[in-house]
Amino acid sequence: MDTVRSSGGTFTTALARGIAVTAGLGMLLAGCSPAEPAADGEVGDERAATQRSASAGSERDSSTDAGVGDSVVVLDPGHNGRNAANLDRIERPVPNGRGDRKQCNSTGTSTDEGYGEHAFNFAVARHVQRMLAGHGVDVVLTRSNDNGVGPCVDERAAIGNRNDADAVVSIHADGTSAEASGFHVIYSAPPLNDAQRTAAPRLARDMVAGMSAAGLPTSDYIASQEGLDARDDLAGLNLSTVPAVLVECGNMRNPEEAEAMSTSEGRRRYADAITRGLLRYLDR
Ligand SMILES: [Zn+2]
Repeated sequence: MDTVRSSGGTFTTALARGIAVTAGLGMLLAGCSPAEPAADGEVGDERAATQRSASAGSERDSSTDAGVGDSVVVLDPGHNGRNAANLDRIERPVPNGRGDRKQCNSTGTSTDEGYGEHAFNFAVARHVQRMLAGHGVDVVLTRSNDNGVGPCVDERAAIGNRNDADAVVSIHADGTSAEASGFHVIYSAPPLNDAQRTAAPRLARDMVAGMSAAGLPTSDYIASQEGLDARDDLAGLNLSTVPAVLVECGNMRNPEEAEAMSTSEGRRRYADAITRGLLRYLDR
């Protein structure tokens, strides 16, 4: 194993290349759908989540971030803490953006120790939110806590569209063979609108560059080997009319990445990497 160690934990690059591609995609398909706007208190939570966070005046460093201070970013922490207990709701079919249907949302994966992807995604999103607020960026989350159901993937996309977001980042972690590791960034292709044609691929490339600059290794188990993946099957990306990408931070079934993801310090490192990618994209 080729390891890169830092204060944030140990990130591993597996020697084997191209392993478990089929299994990885299978998990991804199973793990990356969205949630449901139904008529109960949880929906109120989701609505609250769409309110923009203040640009944290006390933390703002406007002297260095004039270029990003007016930006709006939507962060979409994948899945939700009570999806698994509400399969009847999250398995409802919703439009996938390409004339077909797909499941409203899914439960996501977990580490072998049982730390859930939904919790990781939400914690990382909150870290990113705080970091971006410090740069004066308006941040909207697609869910305000990790104790609800959904929202569905189509609603998550609608939140980005309604807010006319400059960038949307769905935050996920993968679950595939233990030997596989590294992050990758997914965008919608073939493109369905102008935002998907040029801006989303650019956001994806900037995200890869920013996360790489933060010291995270790109995935060793997707075809491109460059941390980029173009897909037509993710409804949240297909339905976005603003630049949107989905980040698979790493593999929760890889012992070393799982260890990093399970600590607050490790999650902060993933968040820092995502923040770097976003700032690289916004600051132009
Ligand atoms: Zn996921």
